[in-house]
Amino acid sequence: MKINSAIFKTSAPDFESCPSSDFPEFAFIGRSNVGKSSLINMITGRGDLAKVSSKPGHTQLINFFLINESWCLIDLPGYGYARTGKENRVRFEGLIIDYMTKRTNLECVFVLLDSRLPPQVIDLEFVHWLFSKGVPAVLVFTKADAPKASELKKNVELFQKSMSKWCKTTPKVVITSSKSKIGRVELLDVIGKVVS
Ligand code: GDP
Repeated sequence: MKINSAIFKTSAPDFESCPSSDFPEFAFIGRSNVGKSSLINMITGRGDLAKVSSKPGHTQLINFFLINESWCLIDLPGYGYARTGKENRVRFEGLIIDYMTKRTNLECVFVLLDSRLPPQVIDLEFVHWLFSKGVPAVLVFTKADAPKASELKKNVELFQKSMSKWCKTTPKVVITSSKSKIGRVELLDVIGKVVS
């Protein structure tokens, strides 16, 4: 899929503020600092579409981007960042839960996982929760340029193994790096299959 246009539409602080839309939505989520903004910019080919943040946890809104006037890329708040304060955390966790469970045009959630790290409990818990709600998900390993190939393979396999305790067929895995641009075509193919 070629990206012809990528336009920021709006930000929503709560589910009620999400715009009504019939466009299929593809959401990106992960722990703060996982490389989400960089990945969104890499996929869309727009260097500054999503802000690459040096301050983890700063995006606590749902950001809507209309791509090719045919689908929406959704930038969700990062989860698992403690320093935002309890009240704020509860609010944006509610926002994520509402969006994931109520948004009828949500097609797929890309869950971003840091390929440099072994499975993190918070990521496994989140994927488990998505699975329990029947939300279609793809596991997107980020920063694949950083670890050694053997370490990357081990981390991916460990995550899949941990999931196999409660999930018979593990979701599709895409290995990405915003630096080397690997995984771009594969991610756009996943979206293209639904959109075209
Ligand atoms: P976000 O908080 O999830 O949106 O993450 P950012 O995109 O802001 O990236 C967090 C940090 O990871 C920044 O210092 C980026 O330069 C770095 N980063 C992002 N993507 C990559 C990547 O593909 N490879 C490497 N090595 N670093 C990355």
